[in-house]
Amino acid sequence: MSKIYLKTDEEIELIRESCLLVSRTIAETGKYIKEGVSTIELDRIAEQFIRDNGAKPAFKGYRKENSVFDYTLCVSVNEQVVHGVPGSYVLKNGDVVSVDCGVLKNGFYGDSAYTFAVGEITQEVKQLLKVTKESLYKGIENAMAGKRVGDISSAVEDHVSKFGYGIVRELVGHGIGRNLHEAPEVPNYGKRGSGVRMEEGLVIAIEPMINLGKRDVKIEKDGWTVSAVDKKPSAHFEHTIAVKKGKAEILTTFEYIEQEVKLKKEAV
Ligand code: MG
Ligand code: MG
Repeated sequence: MSKIYLKTDEEIELIRESCLLVSRTIAETGKYIKEGVSTIELDRIAEQFIRDNGAKPAFKGYRKENSVFDYTLCVSVNEQVVHGVPGSYVLKNGDVVSVDCGVLKNGFYGDSAYTFAVGEITQEVKQLLKVTKESLYKGIENAMAGKRVGDISSAVEDHVSKFGYGIVRELVGHGIGRNLHEAPEVPNYGKRGSGVRMEEGLVIAIEPMINLGKRDVKIEKDGWTVSAVDKKPSAHFEHTIAVKKGKAEILTTFEYIEQEVKLKKEAV
């Protein structure tokens, strides 16, 4: 995955279409996130929604070595960082759950993730979610033609480091387009002024994965789920963005999601 594919404006519009569907899918899933719901139920809701909208779930059928990921969403609860496998786990009050979703439509991928709170979470974990999301936008502010990928990485790192959180290093953001994962890699730590110089038309997914405790992670027995070794909660937020001469264009959006979160709070 070393070649960087710059996208034309027409291609970016197609990626935007996939990205908006991803965003709407996560919002639709978010409607059902509450105590008593299993993670496999969330997966079914998301898959149906994507298919009803004429697209394909991007993660379903994803291969790694000898195993195939057979789900639409990665649902990662509490100490699970990313790549959580949907299953019989039932959400409970105080959980945090990261929903990561990708779709393929018109030959192009979109990718986004959002971490939801189930009921009431502690102040400490609320701050983790807030800071992780902020770090994503700090990274995006540095995604600009002429700057380097390390400028994104260091912006994320500088922000979360102030809080003493652990930055997961084993997993990174990525280019995206006709492939779910393209060059360049976009780490969440690094030096300002280092790495690939960004050009207009570069489309990347930026996705800080931040642990409340230490940064160390391990892969669970299922072969997919990545968890914090110290079992403390982890947060993950992801946007797909297009690099421009000035400010980057964010192709995914949390607006639909946050509208749902607000409606749910009002309903309580
Ligand atoms: Mg993702
Ligand atoms: Mg991604």
